[in-house]
Amino acid sequence: MAINWIESEIIEHVRWTDVLASLKFKGDVLPYTAGQFTKVGLKIDGELISRPYSYVSSPNEDFLEIIYVNVPDGVLTPKLHDLKVGDKLFTMDKASGFFVMDEVPDGKNLWMLATGTGLGVFISLLKTSAPWERFDNIILVHGVRNHNELAYQEQISEFKKNNPSKFNYIQTVTRETKDDCLNLRIPAAIESKKLEELAGINITNDSQFMICGNPDMINDTVELLGKKGLERNRRSKPGNITLEKYW
Ligand SMILES: Cc1cc2nc3c(=O)[nH]c(=O)nc-3n(C[C@H](O)[C@H](O)[C@H](O)COP(=O)(O)OP(=O)(O)OC[C@H]3O[C@@H](n4cnc5c(N)ncnc54)[C@H](O)[C@@H]3O)c2cc1C
Repeated sequence: MAINWIESEIIEHVRWTDVLASLKFKGDVLPYTAGQFTKVGLKIDGELISRPYSYVSSPNEDFLEIIYVNVPDGVLTPKLHDLKVGDKLFTMDKASGFFVMDEVPDGKNLWMLATGTGLGVFISLLKTSAPWERFDNIILVHGVRNHNELAYQEQISEFKKNNPSKFNYIQTVTRETKDDCLNLRIPAAIESKKLEELAGINITNDSQFMICGNPDMINDTVELLGKKGLERNRRSKPGNITLEKYW
């Protein structure tokens, strides 16, 4: 199916680190659901080159936002990194994807596990009411290499302020030591039971997991959760693990 490209204008380019950044832009796209992704593209040597990006913005906001990492030798991201406020990019008019709350079965606890840019999609989901209305406890876990990659701290503090009794945010930094956070990969934090300890919640089948980020983290986590009897959630057979892989 042909993609309908919308010309969009950049209104903000936030540099979280040398290589991690988020872009806010305005474009007349069709309504989307939190958790979905769009495609963002630029004309490079006369050809429109695009890649998928999850929205960080939520459907009721009047701007669009993505977070990306400038991949060394990547085709698109080094060009995205050069963009300034007022520059244009192309956005797919119709968002896509099934990493949305309607696809997640009911449960008591919702674990949102992210590494790196995988955090963005959870920011979008948590800006909507559905996760808060449907789950008693929400545990957002963000794994990064260095602490300066822990983006969206203000937004996350607001989630905590608005939902003090049901929100738990756990950071884990793997390449340096930082107080008040884990220094383990997410799978190791599950295996050692550190995550359960910190959250004060046992992982049983009343937990739903949404996982997004590095494919090795996702594969290792799915394997570990499998040992606890939790399986992938499929439309044909509901389960406890819903995931989105970026590469
Ligand atoms: C459904 C979906 C949603 C996505 N959402 C996001 C998003 O919200 N943010 C985002 O940064 N990327 C996201 N991606 C990945 C994105 O589409 C691109 O692959 C990425 O930006 C690299 O593009 P590039 O042209 O610069 O690199 P390419 O030349 O296409 O090189 C691809 C390589 O870049 C690396 N890579 C890709 N994505 C990442 C990443 N996020 N972090 C670290 N290394 C990476 C991998 O080694 C991959 O093999 C998503 C992918 C999919 C399929």
